[in-house]
Amino acid sequence: MSFAELALDPRLLANLQALGYSQPTPIQQQAIAPVLAGRDLLAGAQTGTGKTASFVLPILQKILPLASTSTSPARHPVRALVLCPTRELAVQVADNAQTYAKHTPIRTAVVFGGVDIKTQTPAVRAGVELLIATPGRLLDHLEQRNVNLNQVQYLVLDEADRMLDMGFLPDLQRILNLLPKQRQTLLFS
Ligand code: AMP
Repeated sequence: MSFAELALDPRLLANLQALGYSQPTPIQQQAIAPVLAGRDLLAGAQTGTGKTASFVLPILQKILPLASTSTSPARHPVRALVLCPTRELAVQVADNAQTYAKHTPIRTAVVFGGVDIKTQTPAVRAGVELLIATPGRLLDHLEQRNVNLNQVQYLVLDEADRMLDMGFLPDLQRILNLLPKQRQTLLFS
């Protein structure tokens, strides 16, 4: 199976070609089509397998038709939320997502703890369709009303098992309570 057979947007295909990805990895072959079809997903995949693109690509494909070139923050609600256990993973996912979303109007941002929250506020307040976050810092931004999650259609729990091991369950529950009940959930462990 090729990326073209997955009927991805030409901008996404061009980005993959520029990266030299000739064909989908096994997790991408298994995950992309079901996510595009609107299914929830429970997947076991380690870092290094191409896991990030397996959820970022179908999510970008789904939210591209809704993307706006307006500068108004209201036109850029968070439509997809990726939760990660650590700053390192969040940054890595965000870097990849930015590369896969190149030349599209979709905005991505990453928030994580351990740094001054003020450095992250302008990006989230400006509006962002794809937000990557560690749970605690996301709650800080929610408390400060920098971000609103009531239009999230896609939730990804990356390294979900590790998030639970690290004691993030109460934070996750608070975040889940703020999301629309009608959404797609993708869980990676
Ligand atoms: P990940 O498991 O998402 O951390 O990805 C591991 C590495 O594989 C990253 O450096 C990606 O850029 C790369 N990668 C992801 N998908 C592909 C692909 N289909 N072909 C070649 N490299 C890929």
